Amino acid sequence: MTLASQNTSGSSDTSPETPLPSILDVSEDDLNYVVSQLGQPAFRARQLWRSLYHDGAQSFDEMTTLAKPFRAALEERYRISPVAPEVELRSADGSTDKVLFKLQDGELIETVLMRYGLDGHRRARRTVCISTQAGCALGCTFCATGQQGFRRQLSPGEIVAQVLHMRRVIRSENAALIAEGSAKKDEVTEITNVVFMGMGEPLANYNNTMGSIAVMNHGQGMNIGARHLTVSTVGLVPEIRKLAREPYQLNLAVSLHAPDDESRSRTMPVNKRYPIARLMHACRDYVETTNRRIFFEYVLLDRENDTPEHARKLADLLQGLMCHVNLIPVNPTEKGPYSRPNDRRSALFREILTRSGIPNTVRQEKGIDINAGCGQLRARSLDDAVETAK
Ligand code: SF4
Repeated sequence: MTLASQNTSGSSDTSPETPLPSILDVSEDDLNYVVSQLGQPAFRARQLWRSLYHDGAQSFDEMTTLAKPFRAALEERYRISPVAPEVELRSADGSTDKVLFKLQDGELIETVLMRYGLDGHRRARRTVCISTQAGCALGCTFCATGQQGFRRQLSPGEIVAQVLHMRRVIRSENAALIAEGSAKKDEVTEITNVVFMGMGEPLANYNNTMGSIAVMNHGQGMNIGARHLTVSTVGLVPEIRKLAREPYQLNLAVSLHAPDDESRSRTMPVNKRYPIARLMHACRDYVETTNRRIFFEYVLLDRENDTPEHARKLADLLQGLMCHVNLIPVNPTEKGPYSRPNDRRSALFREILTRSGIPNTVRQEKGIDINAGCGQLRARSLDDAVETAK
């Protein structure tokens, strides 16, 4: 692992007493209002939007399409990003970056960037895995974030800012490749996919998650197609039903992790609120309403949920449902009780699903050496802070 950079001062770019609000938290409608209040014509709002989300400006000064006095007025009222990178790590193979961001109130969140197809053999993808809450209240026993508890909801701007940061990383890499002649402009890849699978439960922060999706999907800004956005949930039934009625063609990933109530309730307390029968009913309705398949995430925990019997029950549960199962051998957490099953156990589990006609893949592992599993870097950073404070 390499330490790409670390903010040792622990400070962000404004004084802690008077943090300015982030302009990334101003919705499109409100931006129109702000611009008119500052005496500017409506088209300035569109220019400002484009500077923020298409160009990725990091300061108002860079927005040279806007008149200087207007930029100065914005500067007095807003900051741009509400997140500041505190620690940036890169995996030894260069495929994965993990950033620990500090928010304006000192909360810490994590974001991961994964580069696929660096070997030239697979379709190139650049995927960002983002957080939607600081901490999480749902307490899944295999998850480092779940072991740390809930802190607060992230705002739409805090969610979007994670993608903007990772896009800057990719854009500067691409610019270097073009400058050295290793790639042409039309051969480089920008951010292609965003997965809401970092810290927190996106559907427990429903409105802010949807607000961030509106920004990412906006054609005049980040322009990331809805089919390249994946929202993950532990299975909040009312919100899955609500999501089915949204206008976006999003991907839905449901963290299932066990095929029966007894095993699932042991690792996922949410199962007591929304048992498997109720969850599967909502999933079947979701597929019927949207005509889109559901991705089921299944973390393989050695001898907890990875027996052939679990595989057979899972195959029965998903029979006839338009879906795909992602099997993920667990990233063990330092304080967690679980270990990763060996390759033979994972292969047998997979074979049972395949023979039963359930489409599945084993997720390509990335960033083990930089604690890329959800919540692991924050946990380590807090542990380090505790150690330092001793
Ligand atoms: S797996 Fe997701 S929902 Fe469960 S505790 Fe971790 S962050 Fe929360």
